[in-house]
This record gives sequence, structure tokens and C-alpha cells, in this order.
Amino acid sequence: MTHKMPELAYAKDALAPHISQETIEYHYGKHLQTYVDNLNKLIPGTPFENATLEEMIMKAEGPVFNNAAQTWNHTFYFDTFAAKPQPAPTGDLLKAIEKKFGSFDAFKAEFEKKATGLFGSGWTWLVRNAAGELDIVNESNAGNPMRNGAKPLMVMDVWEHAYYIDYRNRRAASIQATWNVIDWKKVEARYAE
Ligand code: MN
Repeated sequence: MTHKMPELAYAKDALAPHISQETIEYHYGKHLQTYVDNLNKLIPGTPFENATLEEMIMKAEGPVFNNAAQTWNHTFYFDTFAAKPQPAPTGDLLKAIEKKFGSFDAFKAEFEKKATGLFGSGWTWLVRNAAGELDIVNESNAGNPMRNGAKPLMVMDVWEHAYYIDYRNRRAASIQATWNVIDWKKVEARYAE
């Protein structure tokens, strides 16, 4: 099986000024492309030759895991954004956020604290965990919470490559800006699945 690049549902400049066209050109166009290309070079002749990304995330180790998970994580990340996003959760997801974190603002503060505090490269996720509760979890490098039985709902990429063009070393500023392009309609749909 040959893995392909996901399509973006928006123009490369649609997320500016929060995420610039240049960042999309590098992050989507070069970093994600490299993970997809590396995965396609790695899997021939291995047990994962015809596996889905999800199967590789659950079972692979080393370079196959890293490139499959980075392909899935980035596809999910770029699919969370919209040019005209629904700016906040509503309905059942909002109720669950309020029950777990107190309010949407309190959730955002907790998420920012966790994402800012992740040492090195990785991803900060909003998930529904194996116990059915909302949770915020950090994963280093290519980590994906599906390995722990959780369902990913939303994610921010805190690798430096995600923000260095627009924000240099200011990870917290990048995280705060990213709220402006997250489409909560998409997150609600994942929560309802
Ligand atoms: Mn990235």
C-alpha cells in the first residue's frame, strides 16, 4: 500500500496570521511530506506493507511507528483547522468539558499549561480516555494516545518545526494563537463518534 498526502480543506494562507502560509508550506508541504515518503520507503517487505496507519500506531516500533504516527498525527492536526472555525464547543462536548475542567476557559488554561510544559518535541492531546472521561495528555516525539486506549479529539503540535517560522522560541504564543483556527465543530463530531 502506498500512503498518500492528505488534502488540506483550506487554502495555505487561510489560517494567517495565526499560522502563516510559510509555516503551512514547510510544516505540511515539507515535514509531513517527508514522513509520508519515509513511511513508503520503510514498509515494503515488512509485516506492515499493507497495514493502515492505525494498525502501525498500535503495533509497530521504531522508524515504522515514528513515521506512521507522525503521518496520522499531522493529518489529524491539519484536519482540526478551518478558515472559518466554530470558535468554541457546544452541546454534549461543552457539557463534558465543563464537568471535567469547570469551564471552557479553565480547560484552555490547563491545556496551555500542559503544552507549554512538554519538554522537548511532542504533542498535547484532548482525548476521551479508556475510562470514558475527557483528559489532556502529553505524548513525546511521535506518541499517540490510541496506544493507551484513548480516542484523540484535538491536538496541538509542539515540535519546534510547528511554530519556529512564525513565533521563533515562543511556544506559548503559538499555542494561544492556535485556538483561533481550531474548528470545534470538527472536535464535536469526533466526540460524537
Ligand atoms: Mn509537526
